[in-house]
Amino acid sequence: MLSAIRKLVDQGGLKGASGNSGTSHSESSPDHPHLVPRPARGDPGHSGTEALCERDPVSAGAGAAPPRTDLSSDYRDSGACAGVNLGCGRTLSGKVGSGATVADLHHRLRHRAAAHPRLTSEAWQLTKAHRPASVQGMNVIQADPTGETERHAAIHAATLTLDTHVDIPWPDTPDPAGATTRRVDFPKMQAGGLKSVVFIAFVPQGPLTAEGHAKAGVRAEAMLRAIAATEGDAPLRRRVCTTPDQLESCTAAGDLAILLGVENGYAMGEDLGRLALWRRLGAIYLTVTHDGHNALSDAARPRRDLGDSEILHGGLSALGRAAIQEMNRVGLIVDVSHVARSAMLQAAELSRTPIVATHACCRSLRDHPRNLDDAQLDALRDVGGLIQITAVGGFLRAPHPNGTSAATLADYVDHVDYAVRRIGIDHVGLSSDFDGGGGVPGWEDASMTGAVSAELLRRGYGPRELALLWSGNFLRVWRAALRAAR
Ligand SMILES: [Zn+2]
Repeated sequence: MLSAIRKLVDQGGLKGASGNSGTSHSESSPDHPHLVPRPARGDPGHSGTEALCERDPVSAGAGAAPPRTDLSSDYRDSGACAGVNLGCGRTLSGKVGSGATVADLHHRLRHRAAAHPRLTSEAWQLTKAHRPASVQGMNVIQADPTGETERHAAIHAATLTLDTHVDIPWPDTPDPAGATTRRVDFPKMQAGGLKSVVFIAFVPQGPLTAEGHAKAGVRAEAMLRAIAATEGDAPLRRRVCTTPDQLESCTAAGDLAILLGVENGYAMGEDLGRLALWRRLGAIYLTVTHDGHNALSDAARPRRDLGDSEILHGGLSALGRAAIQEMNRVGLIVDVSHVARSAMLQAAELSRTPIVATHACCRSLRDHPRNLDDAQLDALRDVGGLIQITAVGGFLRAPHPNGTSAATLADYVDHVDYAVRRIGIDHVGLSSDFDGGGGVPGWEDASMTGAVSAELLRRGYGPRELALLWSGNFLRVWRAALRAAR
């Protein structure tokens, strides 16, 4: 079934239900999906409105018509019902609404079910479809006829998954302990088998003044403290982790892991001491710039509106070089996403530990200033570093003429493939940039993380490669950063 959904996604069939447009996943859908307790075997009393979608089940077994994989048109407006098996004796079901497809319904059910914290990723499949009398003659949707979905889900569930760049809304931050409109909250992580996330204290670029620097520093510190404060026990256990060992034991215990990062060295101002402070507050990396040159470095995208010219320092400034040395000393990973090409190559040479682009893509596939060209990829490989391919539509593929994103999960994995072929599986990882512009049809929020693994597995990556991409490589670099700290 996932492959059917993916096919739809590849064809753009989920447009309108998803994408970069910031479409909110409305909880008040006209179809009123509702929780339907699964009837006990032989339970004759299961009828009425609640049971509408439990009646006339279409078995996926013998005697059924050949399964169809293209659901985009067959079931549109059909009023067909479908359910998602929650894996705990309950089924969340709904009806295909007006103008919608089974794939849309599946997406909505998954989103709703993310509020059920006991779910596991294995539960994610559309297990049944039902045909009301009005649509006689429709073929049967057969769930997972080859067992591929289950195999992929099992591998995904056994993998230590880490998303290395996720923003948080600020200053109004919906509590991620419960279901939110954020693309990443703890219920969505649990539902998608996403075990750990680097949440970002992001500071937008401002004027290079003492006042601007002071304000930026205050904001970064407040955001780090706010992220750390999301640690808790109910309804899901989640822990702040500041070392790779903590991350591994946290996730081994079944808890979700909260990691912290700072985006934009602007927040450092000219005070190198803030780097040690952030590390003490739990940060594991600093993105040296955001968009716009700061006191440390030139950025890949100057901010003309802030008066930036193309080049300010010619790469790293003297302060930026000192900052990288200090990051090495305190054990912060150097993140070169957003920095100018010149600065990135200088940082690769200067840093005593491998540098990482925590959220970027490949310039050979999409010519965008935020992406890394082949020479930059080679430089990452040569220093033992990483590119964490990210799910920002505009970095993956040129947009449609009307400006909307044309990228899908397939494009995302194309960039992963490209980087792996260019510099090897040991130098590539995965990130979403959710809640910071990331999200493509097929991978729209943390609850859909399993789809990324499934696509990689379908393309021939095995469990070992999956583990390296999701966290193994990043843990290696992180350990190197901590070993080198003094
Ligand atoms: Zn960013």
